[in-house]
Amino acid sequence: MLKIESVQVSYGAIEAVKGVSMEVRAGEVVAIIGANGAGKSTLLKSICGLEPVVGGRILLDGEDLARVPAHRRVALGVAMSPEGRGVFADQTVRENLLLGAYGRRKDPVSVEAAIAREFQRFPRLAERQHQLSGTLSGGEQQMLAISRALMSEPRLLLLDEPSLGLAPLIIKDIFEAIRQLRRSGLTILLVEQMARQALAVADRAYVLETGRITLEGAGRALLDDAKVRAAYLGAH
Ligand code: ATP
Repeated sequence: MLKIESVQVSYGAIEAVKGVSMEVRAGEVVAIIGANGAGKSTLLKSICGLEPVVGGRILLDGEDLARVPAHRRVALGVAMSPEGRGVFADQTVRENLLLGAYGRRKDPVSVEAAIAREFQRFPRLAERQHQLSGTLSGGEQQMLAISRALMSEPRLLLLDEPSLGLAPLIIKDIFEAIRQLRRSGLTILLVEQMARQALAVADRAYVLETGRITLEGAGRALLDDAKVRAAYLGAH
């Protein structure tokens, strides 16, 4: 579904992504793990169109996304739940969800059905649908960010650090939601610092170090890899 070929992304003189190649097949959950500053978020931003690539190609079902602006990538089926969640603080939960379905605003029946589905996924959002999003807890904001991305009915969901800053019990809920999405057949590219949980849920994973892929393999295999264990799982 997604094929990334030798992608380079720079911020001025800083080369954050240095020729990364990887792929995500339909129905897979693929994880990217790596330390702070490895370039994980930058790579996701380049896929959804928030950062331009300076080299290489990003292909979605064979179509080069180079000249496709971010909003058109949503129409092509790519949605991102950003790091730091990015919910609109002064809009209610329901209004944030409606924004996620902006491309389908002329089809209110399907939009309401999608809202009902998200409220079933995260009942806390249903309880708080009229609350301003800025007053939600961190975990609730994360749920909202994921649901908002799902409102566009994506074929490929990009999840940037969904566990960041959350309490262990909430992290468990978020990963359960990812498992449920996986069972429903959604294709997911997941960036995480919680390497253990990410590798456990992923079919395959890539390790990104200072802008380069240094290791790739099945999620379970990387969980047992000595180098991964020492560097990312706090075990030897
Ligand atoms: P983290 O887990 O800490 O978010 P990351 O792996 O997602 O890390 P990126 O956020 O992609 O890493 O950052 C990669 C590199 O690019 C870092 O050196 C970072 O300082 C730099 N960088 C990121 N965003 C910008 C920006 N807007 N302007 C300049 N440099 C940036």
